[in-house]
Amino acid sequence: MSDSYRQLLEATIQHVEGLKERGVRHVAVAPETLRALAHPAAKILISHFQSPTEGQLPSPVPRSSRREEFQTIQPTFQAAAVEPETRKSQSLLSSAATIVAAAPLDPQAKAAAFAALRERALACMKCPNLASSRKQVVFGVGNIDSPLMLVGEAPGADEDAQGEPFVGAAGQLLTKIINATGLSRAEVYIANILKCRPDTPGQSAGNRKPTPAEMATCIPFLHEQIDLIRPKVIIALGATAVEGLLGKTVGITKLRGNWQTYRGTPLMPTYHPAYLLRNQSLSTKREVWEDMLAAMEKLGMPISEKQWNFFLKA
Ligand code: URA
Repeated sequence: MSDSYRQLLEATIQHVEGLKERGVRHVAVAPETLRALAHPAAKILISHFQSPTEGQLPSPVPRSSRREEFQTIQPTFQAAAVEPETRKSQSLLSSAATIVAAAPLDPQAKAAAFAALRERALACMKCPNLASSRKQVVFGVGNIDSPLMLVGEAPGADEDAQGEPFVGAAGQLLTKIINATGLSRAEVYIANILKCRPDTPGQSAGNRKPTPAEMATCIPFLHEQIDLIRPKVIIALGATAVEGLLGKTVGITKLRGNWQTYRGTPLMPTYHPAYLLRNQSLSTKREVWEDMLAAMEKLGMPISEKQWNFFLKA
């Protein structure tokens, strides 16, 4: 069995196990794909879906408790033949992760899957330094049926103490921004790339950016949150959120205001509210507000004349 085929298989199994943990019992898989997966040496059929962003796939896990079978439903995707060895392993992995597309869960199953995910995150010990330094895991807050999700970097000291994202100074500003759209904090969902506060050994105060290893370790939780919530729009607050979700390290100044796509979901990058606290110019406030207006438009929210004109010069 080739390495790329094994990786493809492991990624598929892991993805399906993740779905199963979240209560999903039916997946859409083309019959040709199933047949092809049973014959690694033959031509493999991989459906043409949109690939997730490169580098977002978790690494393979040991095979355990894979006995339960998933029931397949009518194929909904077009399939095309490709040679397994002619694609890079990453693109095979990307395709593998989308071979199965989770159908929306009913509200009860969704709430249960979300609660189970939360329990897993709260018990996470994958980053020993963060697990020992944190006061609390900061999982996320808000409406799990919201069409709007906002994603930040990592909890700070206030968030670590309260167990809720964006409750410190930057968070209060974010709440004001959300309120300016006509929404409340409770109506949107707020989460971070990292669920634990980055430790700062030897320092009694201050924050640090999450390391790439910490981000890679924690990001599967956020992917699963997004998969369950299925927001219509994601707002990425700052460069780290963009990097974690899209793998892009382009400066936020360049990216902000330009729609991106996270696994098919429109994503608007904007400045982090902490940056806004440090740069209180009218033009910077207007830039963030324009990003919010774009999100509101995309969501079909009503926008008043007054809202259109926030932070414009008199
Ligand atoms: N900054 C973030 O990115 N997230 C928080 O939760 C708080 C501050």
